[in-house]
Amino acid sequence: MSRIQALETLVVNKIAAGEVVERPGSVVKELLENSVDALASRVEVDIVEGGTELIRIADDGEGIHPDDLSLAVTSHATSKIRGSDDLFRVRTMGFRGEALASIASISRLKLRSRQAGAEHGSELAVDGGQIGPLQPCGCPVGTVTEVRSLFFNTPVRRKFLRSISTEFGHISEQFTRIALACPRLAAVLRHNERMVYELPPTDQVVDRLRLFFGSDLADRLIWVESQTDSARLWGYAGHPSESRSTRKCQYLFLNGRFIQDRSLQHALGEAYRGLLMTGRYPVAFLFLELSPELVDVNIHPTKAEVRFRDAQSLYRQLLSTLRTRFLTADLESTVSIPAGLQLAPQRPAVDPKRQLDLQLELAAWAKDSLAQWLPPVSLPEDSTRSFGQIGTEPLSADGIFNSAATYPGLQTHIEPGAQPTWFPAPVEFGAADASPSDAEGIMPGAGGASAGPGSPVRQIMQVHDCYLVVETDEGITVIDQHALHERVMYEHLRCRVIEGAVESQKMLVPQPLEFGPREVAALLENKDLLSRLGYGVDEFGGTTVLLAAYPAMLAQADHSRLLADIADQLAAAGQKPSRRDILDSLLHLMACKAAVKAGQRLKPEEMESLLAQRHLIDDAHHCPHGRPTALVLTRTELDRQFGRLG
Ligand code: ADP
Ligand code: MG
Repeated sequence: MSRIQALETLVVNKIAAGEVVERPGSVVKELLENSVDALASRVEVDIVEGGTELIRIADDGEGIHPDDLSLAVTSHATSKIRGSDDLFRVRTMGFRGEALASIASISRLKLRSRQAGAEHGSELAVDGGQIGPLQPCGCPVGTVTEVRSLFFNTPVRRKFLRSISTEFGHISEQFTRIALACPRLAAVLRHNERMVYELPPTDQVVDRLRLFFGSDLADRLIWVESQTDSARLWGYAGHPSESRSTRKCQYLFLNGRFIQDRSLQHALGEAYRGLLMTGRYPVAFLFLELSPELVDVNIHPTKAEVRFRDAQSLYRQLLSTLRTRFLTADLESTVSIPAGLQLAPQRPAVDPKRQLDLQLELAAWAKDSLAQWLPPVSLPEDSTRSFGQIGTEPLSADGIFNSAATYPGLQTHIEPGAQPTWFPAPVEFGAADASPSDAEGIMPGAGGASAGPGSPVRQIMQVHDCYLVVETDEGITVIDQHALHERVMYEHLRCRVIEGAVESQKMLVPQPLEFGPREVAALLENKDLLSRLGYGVDEFGGTTVLLAAYPAMLAQADHSRLLADIADQLAAAGQKPSRRDILDSLLHLMACKAAVKAGQRLKPEEMESLLAQRHLIDDAHHCPHGRPTALVLTRTELDRQFGRLG
């Protein structure tokens, strides 16, 4: 083997460049960070051909002293730290003194800078690492860094560049991250002389979010905030309906630096558990502020990853902040029919007098013809009585809602003497607000139940044996009966499991059930977990398991099939998921299996019961799989679509 030699500076820098400069976007990131560190209030970024031809960043920051210009492009030379102790006090974006030297070694770089008070600026050119002479030049206070022909002397790297638009996409992403981290920084991005972003300074991150991600997303963001002894977390969580198929719309900033952190990403996912469908990722813009001593940013050349002293407590903080916030946030999905999509062909303008006549005519006709086959308004004696029973006692024990029967707190309570709500709710033609005492009803209604806090239900009907359509103060709500029931069941089960109080029904004679060998092993291995869910299983030998007990509230479920699915999940969960994860997915599964199905005709009292339970759960808006349970069509939206507004 040959003898050891120290590498030439140029080679060292090229090696470092391999780590720091992956593509033009990385150059933009490093240069923008330098402008931020120089306390610039404005940056202009000019890009030509995706940054392969030119990257020029001009700022109005503090500038570089002429004597320091050549040091600026020398590796491990920095104005930001002095000693190793400073590594744990870093408040700037840069501190390694590596970026400019690296970039200069693989491009044709030009630095022009002028400090306040200096008569003129100074310019330094570096060509593939070869530093040229320092020259005076005219320029405003601040720094202009120009990078041409990136990778001109590293052909392999150049070959790995993607299309111009892809590379520009990466640049734009880096620009976005800095712009979000520093909203007070006025920032301009041009590509091939075309303006892409022109961002005025602002105090509100949300202004920038609106510009980058659109008003639809920005207007529905949920503000979150929390403070512990060591950390402040604030920012915006996306509405569940704004989920994405990747994590790309998750922005996490630590002390103004965009970072990626698996643990915190996981916490974010956990916070949205049950609100999003599998394979969907929440949108979030979160800002974490903590003392620099509590984090090591020096573990990655581009500082994209950091190491927290107490990652666990940050995990808990993020999770609980979001979870707590979601309890009070309005997560309901509101249907907004895209403009231009008409529900019906636009009506020609109608003479108002003629329209009124038509309405009166129609009302008169409806009154006569419908009255013949609609039940009378006054209610028969017995129906009132049967209604009273529902109000004071649990629903029939064998009914599909016997979860309510088991837990008194979840019974359907309806005011004594109230209208039997599945009977036709009286509606007066022409009256905007139907009152219960006058005129004939046109459809089954629910006067007493509630579709959620603050929105009393006036009408309810089941359509296609699948959806409940409910009239509320705000408009109409369409509820997916299965999704809602599933959610209700899930919450009941979860509460019970947390309290350790799932009622278990013992079987008089244990029932033998057959499974595959893998499933049998999985069930028996997880006996204690199953017992928390109310299932008692015992070994019988071979591929048979004895079912000794089942959760009382799932009396109607097909336990053999349910356990087969549970066993499947347990067996498939290869890489040791946490008990909590397993438990949670089993709860989802049980809730889904036990819930009323789409296509099942519901009795009026069953609809009632389901709706009445709706407000008892924290998030009635999504089933545990994340599908929405309800869609709201607001009165305004209806009016807008039918041309009654404006
Ligand atoms: P680092 O940012 O880690 O210090 P760089 O190689 O990015 O390393 O920059 C080297 C030095 O050049 C910085 O420490 C800073 O003093 C100076 N510098 C670079 N860009 C600018 C700028 N836009 N404005 C003022 N000074 C700058
Ligand atoms: Mg730097």
